[in-house]
Amino acid sequence: MRQVLIIGGGASGLMAAVSAARAGAKVTVLEQNKQAGKKLLATGNGRCNLTNRDQTLSCYRGSSPEFIQTALDAFGLSQTLEFFYSLGIVIRDRDGYLYPYSDQASSVVEVLRMEAERQRVKLALNTRVQKIRLEKEGFLAETPGWSYVGDALILAAGSCAAPETGSDGSGYSFARALGHKVIEPLPALVQLRTKDPAFPKLKGIRMEADVALYSEGTLLARDQGEVQFTEYGLSGIPVFQVSRYGVRALRQGKKVQVLLNLLPFLKEGEADAFWQERILAGACKSAGQLLVGLFPRKMADCLLKRAKISADQTAGTFTDRERKALVSACTAFEVEISAGNGFDRAQVCSGGVDTREVNPKTMESRKVQNLYFAGELLDVDGACGGYNLQWAWTSGRLAGIHAAGN
Ligand SMILES: Cc1cc2nc3c(=O)[nH]c(=O)nc-3n(C[C@H](O)[C@H](O)[C@H](O)COP(=O)(O)OP(=O)(O)OC[C@H]3O[C@@H](n4cnc5c(N)ncnc54)[C@H](O)[C@@H]3O)c2cc1C
Repeated sequence: MRQVLIIGGGASGLMAAVSAARAGAKVTVLEQNKQAGKKLLATGNGRCNLTNRDQTLSCYRGSSPEFIQTALDAFGLSQTLEFFYSLGIVIRDRDGYLYPYSDQASSVVEVLRMEAERQRVKLALNTRVQKIRLEKEGFLAETPGWSYVGDALILAAGSCAAPETGSDGSGYSFARALGHKVIEPLPALVQLRTKDPAFPKLKGIRMEADVALYSEGTLLARDQGEVQFTEYGLSGIPVFQVSRYGVRALRQGKKVQVLLNLLPFLKEGEADAFWQERILAGACKSAGQLLVGLFPRKMADCLLKRAKISADQTAGTFTDRERKALVSACTAFEVEISAGNGFDRAQVCSGGVDTREVNPKTMESRKVQNLYFAGELLDVDGACGGYNLQWAWTSGRLAGIHAAGN
């Protein structure tokens, strides 16, 4: 019977364990936490957005889209849903964002643990792997108390994001030690920081906005949704969605700006006519009063300041230049980004094990036979919306069945 060792009992490690055991292997999972699936429990605000009906390839990011597509073709959405249904998970569909019907991430962890137990997977908890060696007898995983041996090894140790859940980046050092290239991991799905002194005053504002992230004149990413203003910068789902591009550009020493359109309900080119009409209707109002009903007070003050218009000025006296400055302040609210928040605040990492060195159909290393990778450790990250877990299921499944020898 083939012995499969798995480092990491998170989403991808548990999926790999169940898949390898079902395929007939003797499986041992080495997990440093006192429980498996700790990060999974925190997903989707405790509800676990486990995948998404929309599987457009652009929702996955990484150096090689072909690698990701090949893997998803081998085990994608429908197989994932079948798999979880077979374990007892009924799906709750929220506009294509899929959750367990119980709305509890713990259900997902529990069904995976139950199946692992049923398949006689050995789950070694409180077991931190310190070193990996490749010997004649196979892979040796050294822990403080014991050395575990396997014919095949699956590295499923996660990234460096949210290290309090156990993923402290040690998987990258094991991959490097076994001869693999690692593309620098950087925080993704994370808040963006600015040194703009206006921000502490904007703290607490939440507004629907179109978020366009530029680096040196090039549009890198765009998204729309509720933006949260914090004392240090920008947060909220649309900011998370574009953040990985900003963080990577900053790392390359480039300048990064976010342009916010705070009137996203207007079609392109409509903003000037909108303001002309509003100014005409409110000609007797002060500039400050003109913005009431459209923006929160603190934001209105900031917009007028940016447009260099006094809050006391009568709207009917606005010059064309002043109106255009107001249009620009609202539809192209520029924020110079100085940094992203760190790994401790990031949901995932971009970067990871270079996928050119991994077979996308099996997740096996092209450099070391019987070595497999799964999950976020690879250079694949997803948008917010269930894509990171879908990647954990896809890669975990492929690594598991192939490590078992199928
Ligand atoms: C707050 C939060 C919310 C999220 N919500 C969602 C969501 O709703 N939908 C979605 O798709 N994605 C979500 N994600 C992302 C998703 O959780 C991860 O992409 C996914 O869990 C990655 O799975 P993994 O198996 O690669 O890594 P992990 O789940 O991090 O598992 C890695 C495991 O390896 C163990 N380990 C690491 N090093 C060692 C070692 N040396 N020895 C032994 N064990 C080790 C760790 O303790 C850990 O348990 C969220 C992330 C966070 C932080």
